[in-house]
Amino acid sequence: MSNALLLRLTEDLFAADKAGTYKRLKTIEGPIGDRIQLAGKGEVTLLSSNDYLGFANHPEIVEAARAALLKYGASTASVRFICGTQDVHEALEADLARFHGTEAALTYSSCWAANTGLFNAICGAGDVVLSDELNHASLIDGIRATAKDVVRGVYKHSDMADLEAKLKQHADAPSRMIVTDGVFSMEGDIAPLDQIVALAEKYDALIVLDDSHGLGVMGKTGHGTAEHFGVMDKIDIFTGTLGKALGAGTGGFVAGPKAVTETLIQKSRPHLFSNALPASVAAAGSKSLELLEAHPERVQSLQEKAAKFRVLLKELDLDPLEGDSAVVPVIVGETATAIRLAGELLDKGIFVTGFGFPVVPEGEARLRFQVSYAHTEAELEEAGRALATLLLASAK
Ligand SMILES: *Cc1c(COP(=O)(O)O)cnc(C)c1O
Repeated sequence: MSNALLLRLTEDLFAADKAGTYKRLKTIEGPIGDRIQLAGKGEVTLLSSNDYLGFANHPEIVEAARAALLKYGASTASVRFICGTQDVHEALEADLARFHGTEAALTYSSCWAANTGLFNAICGAGDVVLSDELNHASLIDGIRATAKDVVRGVYKHSDMADLEAKLKQHADAPSRMIVTDGVFSMEGDIAPLDQIVALAEKYDALIVLDDSHGLGVMGKTGHGTAEHFGVMDKIDIFTGTLGKALGAGTGGFVAGPKAVTETLIQKSRPHLFSNALPASVAAAGSKSLELLEAHPERVQSLQEKAAKFRVLLKELDLDPLEGDSAVVPVIVGETATAIRLAGELLDKGIFVTGFGFPVVPEGEARLRFQVSYAHTEAELEEAGRALATLLLASAK
């Protein structure tokens, strides 16, 4: 047996440890919520999860999953097109299509799978795909997986002049597609969808919007970043996850024209070659959408909490990045600083994640707070004050 590869991995891990960038998994001994039980630490306030609406452990969603688990069993034991389609999958897809105002929707085992299975299936020779430079890794990988004769371009983050120049340059292509996150997860800012829609109309382009961090968070009724801009009916293809605000467990989807979803059923590799969502998750997804639509006040409360948290941080001179989403990053400088501060906050019972290079640019390491409907104002205030106190102490 050759040890060369294992030796190299061990050396790389050692180097990461030395650089302070080694990721260690933290073990949670119970459900996700505003407070969690963290192994070795006890109860802490969680400001790192995507559980924006407090749905991850919502009794009605858990019950919907439980009932489906008992009725349909644990696994489809198949991909969708062989024997992995149960009526709950079709019900969820009808719900997702109605929610987004699209003709159809198709579910995947994750949004990662949806994004990596979308572009290769629908893009043909000469088609142009233009992607925001800060798009999620799954969009990047999905676009990279297209055939060699598909033209791929990257435009500067939310830079409409750059996007327009690239659309103009490819005006004669068979089709143009603009691909963007709704909420950018490291910055907490949102794509200028009103301007993107205007450019798409001017240059006859399709819009693909991955609103994984926007669904349930943005817009008056939580329909996402497109609702925020009043352009729901101008988005051609939505992708998203069931595993963030919807709290359904896992799962992702593509919602759009039937010609797209039917093509995905024919050709999309994660759909053809990977298990269907478990029925329990599909049923949980439908219940989450139902609750979201029945309780827009949860969304409004979340938005108010996030806005108040930004104001509080500013009052504490912490200078959060501007934005309208529930992702509130505070830049602290060096990667090691972000990691040290996250560790010190955890010692004070506040769980927030530090992100450094290469996830974000060098010198822009940050703590990323994620606000949830589940948080009390006291919890948010305590977190802001704790960070302010630590920064004051380290400035001395
Ligand atoms: C989280 C996220 C995904 C991945 O979603 P999963 O369902 O967990 O695979 C995809 N795109 C964006 C923009 C995300 O934030």
